[in-house]
Amino acid sequence: MKRFEYLAPTSLAEALEMLAHYPNALPLAGGTDLLVQMKESHRPVEALVSLKRVFEIHQVEHNEAVIRLGAAVKAGVIAADERVQTAYTALAVGLGLIGSRQIRNMASLGGNICNASPSADSVPGLLALGTLAVIVGPEGERSLPLETFFVAPGKSALQPGELLKEIVIPRPPENSGSFYFRHTTRAWMDIAFVGAAAAITLDGGGRIANACIALGAVAPTPMRALEAEKVLFGAMPGHEVFEEAGRIAAAEARPIDDLRASADYRRHLVIVLTRRALEQALSRAKNGNGHGS
Ligand SMILES: Cc1cc2nc3c(=O)[nH]c(=O)nc-3n(C[C@H](O)[C@H](O)[C@H](O)COP(=O)(O)OP(=O)(O)OC[C@H]3O[C@@H](n4cnc5c(N)ncnc54)[C@H](O)[C@@H]3O)c2cc1C
Repeated sequence: MKRFEYLAPTSLAEALEMLAHYPNALPLAGGTDLLVQMKESHRPVEALVSLKRVFEIHQVEHNEAVIRLGAAVKAGVIAADERVQTAYTALAVGLGLIGSRQIRNMASLGGNICNASPSADSVPGLLALGTLAVIVGPEGERSLPLETFFVAPGKSALQPGELLKEIVIPRPPENSGSFYFRHTTRAWMDIAFVGAAAAITLDGGGRIANACIALGAVAPTPMRALEAEKVLFGAMPGHEVFEEAGRIAAAEARPIDDLRASADYRRHLVIVLTRRALEQALSRAKNGNGHGS
């Protein structure tokens, strides 16, 4: 690994100053992606700006309308938070699948997002839950829907000198539920061949008032399956309509053949995992599990 400066700011303002001062500096959160990349690819990095002591991005705030999760909050902390497990189940499940307990104690939510891997396990759940990304940089603060944050594998909408500050997720209405499934060869310490998240809200008559489906590892970036969502709006939930949504989602996906799985197998997995995620989301919506009151 090449030599680099290690900088340890204690506030967001100081971190942004350091990033402006060293144009080739990178933010360092848990280092579970970045340090591996630096070792393996000998990626030259002039300086690392550690986010460890940037207190503003280590906070979790929960109110009637939204939950705000600081970018540096650890995956393990969020996955174990009962409010997240109840109201934002797809996110808690996705973060709870990352690596191992040791990895989840180091890995941050923001790092999982900013690494911009198509297979990041937190992201489909976040997309299904309608998340906003809050970014800070030399020009001030801006927010964008998370689905526009991902540009290409390993590339996000972050501009030089910018940091992901937090993500904001609206509180799901009553009679809502969400879930995430992934397929891997090993239960742990493996990367998703396919990930599928679903979120459902039911109306008073038990029909689907709103539904979101998001997929990982089947396109250059994590994606919403917008056409599949359309068949769900206004429908009575059940096996047939969920299976149909899965088939449409598989047609929308753009998977590749690689060493881990063929594109055809990934499409098949999209059908199965989407249906299962919808079934689990429905069960939570019916039992009132997803509201988080
Ligand atoms: C053994 C092992 C198993 C793993 N298993 C999984 C798995 O099952 N599922 C999965 O999804 N991932 C997995 N990962 C990947 C990794 O743990 C996650 O992506 C993790 O969440 C990254 O967070 P971090 O804090 O370590 O990020 P870092 O490595 O510190 O940073 C990652 C990238 O994001 C940037 N960054 C970090 N924070 C910010 C910020 N606030 N603003 C701007 N840029 C930022 C960094 O500059 C870097 O480019 C695994 C990794 C290992 C080593």
